[in-house]
Amino acid sequence: MSQLSKNIYRHEIACKCGCGFDTMDVETVEAVQECCDNFARVLGVDRVILDITSGARCLTYNRKPVSQGGPGSTDKSQHPKARAIDFRIRGVSPHDVYEYLNAKYPEKYGIGKYNTFTHLDTRQVPARW
Ligand SMILES: [Zn+2]
Ligand SMILES: [Zn+2]
Repeated sequence: MSQLSKNIYRHEIACKCGCGFDTMDVETVEAVQECCDNFARVLGVDRVILDITSGARCLTYNRKPVSQGGPGSTDKSQHPKARAIDFRIRGVSPHDVYEYLNAKYPEKYGIGKYNTFTHLDTRQVPARW
């Protein structure tokens, strides 16, 4: 198993369609890892348990409708660019992860808040949702 950082393994960021697309931008990996390290300190543990919901996506899988089990996303998504990770840290609400990232990177990145995960990407023009 190839490890990209303390908490992130390559197979976890691979496209879920099985196409083999499993690259991820280093800055994105480092930002998610820094977030994990922060909450490890907050929780008082050596390492958090990270659940990656979605990482790299080929365009075909990215377009796959939600009704067919896909993300139903648009071609503008950062996931096909291998610059985005959707994740959850066990024991931490996605809302708190969002707030942490938004405070840490006030004028950077794309950060999205969802009920069950937080989206982080390293796009050039910042975005929030
Ligand atoms: Zn794919
Ligand atoms: Zn996402």
